Amino acid sequence: MIAIQGATYIYPGSTVPALEKIDLAIEPGEFLAITGPNGSGKSTLARLLNGLLRPRQGRVLVDGMDTGDDTALITIRRRVGMVFQDPDNQLVAATVAEDVAFGLENLGLPPAEIEKRVDLALRSVGLEDLAARPPHLLSGGQKQRLALAGVLAMEPRYLVLDEATAMLDPVAREEILEQVLRLRQEQGIAIILITHLMEEAVRADRMLIMKSGRIFWQGSPRELSYQERILAAAGLRLPAVIALAKSLRQGGIKLATNPVCVEELA
Ligand code: ADP
Repeated sequence: MIAIQGATYIYPGSTVPALEKIDLAIEPGEFLAITGPNGSGKSTLARLLNGLLRPRQGRVLVDGMDTGDDTALITIRRRVGMVFQDPDNQLVAATVAEDVAFGLENLGLPPAEIEKRVDLALRSVGLEDLAARPPHLLSGGQKQRLALAGVLAMEPRYLVLDEATAMLDPVAREEILEQVLRLRQEQGIAIILITHLMEEAVRADRMLIMKSGRIFWQGSPRELSYQERILAAAGLRLPAVIALAKSLRQGGIKLATNPVCVEELA
């Protein structure tokens, strides 16, 4: 479990907390979405989860290990994998396979184990045919997959995706999300999806809306969709598909596709 206890974070040189008194528990295997408007503290919260940032007050425990404890940081970073918005910042090597191997070599794993994990990670993101290609020749979507493979090869228990699909077209975005959800099902990896897209966030089991550095609302997306005023107060809008279903229904038009699902959400 990741436990955030009374965590406050203030960026150096700033007087306003980017996060204030956050209490949050993330269970193993859970699919949690964190959403909210720009500047609400989502990325700062993500960076607390693996000790990239440490709280000014309060503490963050990963499976009981404190991110403030220097000796625990290496283990914490292996357990909590992070993929960021810009994959170029995460790609370091001359070929796709070497890039995935990079983190594993730093761990000092035996070559046979490295080879096995690289193979598995590339296959799980569908890049096995591009193992010898230089990363800079990949498309944006492929780079994003490669960044994900590099993190997966470390066999994390928790996977944080911080707007990791933001630069992709909707089809590629959906593919990556499907892939990580499959991994969650197969391997029980917890998914923490940071997104400003309500369409993505409502797919999680639990959703958290941030506003001005605090947790503004949390619950199941199902509960939220009835409460448009909560979204409005947080500066968010209904997911487009639900808004569309509502206005169609108000206009007396019934949807022919997937009516049960849309009815349930709306
Ligand atoms: P979000 O991810 O929801 O857009 P962030 O966590 O990036 O929000 O930012 C939360 C607050 O912290 C914002 O007010 C932002 O301006 C501020 N902030 C973010 N990064 C820095 C930084 N490196 N230095 C100073 N302030 C920052």
